[in-house]
Amino acid sequence: MKPRSHWLADTESLRAASDSVAPAKAVDVAIVGGGFVGLWTAIELKLREPDLAIAVFEANRCGEGASGLNGGFVMSWWPKIGSLARICGADDAVWLADETTRCITELGSFLEHHGIDAEYRQSGWLWTATSPLHLGAWDGVVDTACRLGRDDVFVQVPASEIAARTGSAVHLAGVCEPVNGTVHPAKLALGLARVAESLGVRIHEHTRVERVERTSPARLVLASGVVKAGRVVLATNAWAASVPELARKFVCVGSAVIATPPIPDRLRAIGWTGGESITDSQTTVTYYRTTRDGRIVFGKGGGRLYFTGEPDALAFADPVGIAEATEDFRRTYPMLADVPIDSAWSGPIDRTYDSLPLLGTLPDAPHIAYGIGWSGNGVNPSRIGGRILAELSLERKSRWTANALVNRDARRFPPEPLRYLGGALVRRAMLRKDRAELAGRAPSATDRMLASLAPSGLEDKN
Ligand SMILES: Cc1cc2nc3c(=O)[nH]c(=O)nc-3n(C[C@H](O)[C@H](O)[C@H](O)COP(=O)(O)OP(=O)(O)OC[C@H]3O[C@@H](n4cnc5c(N)ncnc54)[C@H](O)[C@@H]3O)c2cc1C
Repeated sequence: MKPRSHWLADTESLRAASDSVAPAKAVDVAIVGGGFVGLWTAIELKLREPDLAIAVFEANRCGEGASGLNGGFVMSWWPKIGSLARICGADDAVWLADETTRCITELGSFLEHHGIDAEYRQSGWLWTATSPLHLGAWDGVVDTACRLGRDDVFVQVPASEIAARTGSAVHLAGVCEPVNGTVHPAKLALGLARVAESLGVRIHEHTRVERVERTSPARLVLASGVVKAGRVVLATNAWAASVPELARKFVCVGSAVIATPPIPDRLRAIGWTGGESITDSQTTVTYYRTTRDGRIVFGKGGGRLYFTGEPDALAFADPVGIAEATEDFRRTYPMLADVPIDSAWSGPIDRTYDSLPLLGTLPDAPHIAYGIGWSGNGVNPSRIGGRILAELSLERKSRWTANALVNRDARRFPPEPLRYLGGALVRRAMLRKDRAELAGRAPSATDRMLASLAPSGLEDKN
């Protein structure tokens, strides 16, 4: 199969041949999904209980889901502090957001310790306005952080500096979260798989779990037979719609990404040399960053809505999403009009209504834990997810398992086909609203109203 993204193509030569060893008949913990969440969970479990027999089952190869398709933004949960505080209360919200900040710095030492070159860079994230109508889009988040005693998380960036640092005058204003970074996501996924294996985790690639039977121990049905597991962790991201308890609590939307060839001289010429990652304030948000070899990787969220079910082939190469991302890239960097697009892809994002993940255990099968719904912000928070899922699997009572994110009753989306049809209507209104605002026009009241029905982005809507 052709690699689904620039990142995956770039790591093809680094992959070892997939292990064809048959899975054990019984394990202590079975993890379904070999993305960031499954791999961090395996590592966090082994760090706590080295003797556990742990197997990861991955339908394709590790990192070939969203973990190898994303923008590689390594972000804290501070931009989501409003939703976090509403769900968890002020103390736990600050604690969790601070933990995500700590994880960003710890990622650097983790990679160094294990000798993994994942092109990690802590160069800060700029949240910007590219229309006068977007000025101050971040005010609510910054005010909430200040009210909770963290007036140093976001730094106001003067207008002249924002244009200089981003390399484009379309950026009118912004704030910076300096601790955030960027990574080569596929190299990170491969590195995590290697660490997990070195700790004794068995990783079975090309091994789809057809069904998890909720017996105790649970029975994982594979094409090659059945594996019994005392504990199961479902880390299947956008593929989790087959779990009835979760299906109504997230929607799957597309996000498309394009990458230029290496253009380090052009980056120098426009002044975008600091390695900052950048986000604008559209409801169909754009996000962009540079790479170590001088490419621009430019993505657009709020894409195609999927009918409930597993992502189809179109999810990984959506021409409409790619065209929208390209249009926004050309608008943002008109001085690079002659730079070709080297690769383009898309991927599924598991969006919850409040943009925070669903973590917990199934009510009728407490030995089966789940961690999905990362809502386009899972690269760094997946490590927090790994800690929570590890402690849930070990039945530990700790702050990781006792906070209100765990086993929460998240808002449900309407049933199909209402959700698909209504979602498509809302998405078209979001696009019209964004286009009007970028042109400096106020969007229509209908489009504003319809767009307000979309799940939360960075602001809390509940
Ligand atoms: C285009 C795009 C851009 C993004 N940009 C960013 C960003 O810049 N920063 C950020 O923080 N987040 C970003 N995200 C989100 C981030 O990539 C995800 O939140 C994160 O990768 C989720 O990791 P995961 O392990 O839950 O999912 P995945 O990496 O999708 O892993 C789930 C795995 O489960 C496997 N699987 C599913 N069903 C089965 C089964 N039955 N049996 C065996 N295996 C199965 C799949 O094959 C898949 O590999 C982006 C996502 C996309 C798609």
